[in-house]
Amino acid sequence: MKKVEINLGIPHDDLVSCVSCGLCLPHCPTYRVTQEESASPRGRIALMKHAESTGFIDEEFVEFMDACIQCRGCETACPAGVEFGSMMETTREALATQTSYQPWWRRLGYGILGRPTVLAFVSRVLALLQWIKVVPKKLGLPRIPVIQRPLVASGTDVWLFTGCIMDAWMRDTHRAVQRVVEATGAGVQFPNKAAACCGALHVHAGLGEDARLLAERTMTAFPGDAPILVDSAGCGAQLKEYGHLLGTELAEKFSTRVFDVHEWLAERLDELPEIQEASGRVAVQDPCHLRHVQKSHHAVYQVLGRYVEPVGLDDEGLCCGAGGAYSAFHQETASQVRDRKIESIRRAGAPEVASANPGCLLHLRAAGVEVRHPLEIIDSIMTKGG
Ligand code: SF4
Ligand code: SF4
Repeated sequence: MKKVEINLGIPHDDLVSCVSCGLCLPHCPTYRVTQEESASPRGRIALMKHAESTGFIDEEFVEFMDACIQCRGCETACPAGVEFGSMMETTREALATQTSYQPWWRRLGYGILGRPTVLAFVSRVLALLQWIKVVPKKLGLPRIPVIQRPLVASGTDVWLFTGCIMDAWMRDTHRAVQRVVEATGAGVQFPNKAAACCGALHVHAGLGEDARLLAERTMTAFPGDAPILVDSAGCGAQLKEYGHLLGTELAEKFSTRVFDVHEWLAERLDELPEIQEASGRVAVQDPCHLRHVQKSHHAVYQVLGRYVEPVGLDDEGLCCGAGGAYSAFHQETASQVRDRKIESIRRAGAPEVASANPGCLLHLRAAGVEVRHPLEIIDSIMTKGG
């Protein structure tokens, strides 16, 4: 790519909020594996500043922006409160609208996520390919059912957000979550197809217009005031940011109804069934969008702690490399980042691993790590009666 004219549109105050202290560098997974300044939050912000002042970008700029996992570990580490995630989203949207950053085939893939009938068809084809054993195990895909059993509502106390890929490929996780939520005495209802996809991957890809359309549509699927529980950290973070994405009062109000399911359960621990004694150690992988964005990862430990001994990892919430669609487009970096996570999991010395995000689950499973959603672990303990 030659030099291309661009207007990123990042507010000046945001750009100058970085004081270049470098405290975020050890918390950035892409800096950790490359040791390149331009692959760090500070380096990326410097590139953004340069692009804004010159009005031009080049191939190197696109490469370093695209290589960011958007884990937002840098935000947690930053003493100056730099809102890196928002700056990166604005940058990606400028790239997607003003350059050829997102090719047609990537746009097609993202487009399928918001179309449940097409996604169901693609998933059924994948399920058949799995059945005849031509899908490599290293892809880490769960066993996709050829025929999907519907989720059945049990009341109207809470909604459970079902999403796109998770509903198409991991609906049994929703069933396990439903059983745990019902164990508190609450009835669970499910949204209609208008809530087909939260739009998180579209925001990450810079497809802001698509994300806003999906967000508007998703909000119509949750009438009333009942809490909206989410069992995917990435989707939960996105639903909580609808106010920021759409900038309307309605969206702000909607976001206040959204809870990660562990957050909601942590307030109702006494309503969950008791067991005789804790069932062993479970290493907990904190998904970035639960720890760095929602900041509610502690709830997972509280809920798991009623049934097992949760063990935190020693890497201060460093990303696992999944990053939504990141691991599909940046396989080498994603796998180098994952190697560090796996070392940390090994050091935890627990026989089982829990992760509250489907993207992290699939990415870790692709490397042979036995990992389940925390509420699947609890559901199986409850089913066995402790
Ligand atoms: S979002 Fe993650 S990958 Fe991107 S710069 Fe920040 S820490 Fe690094
Ligand atoms: S983003 Fe924050 S932590 Fe990183 S260099 Fe800038 S001010 Fe320092």
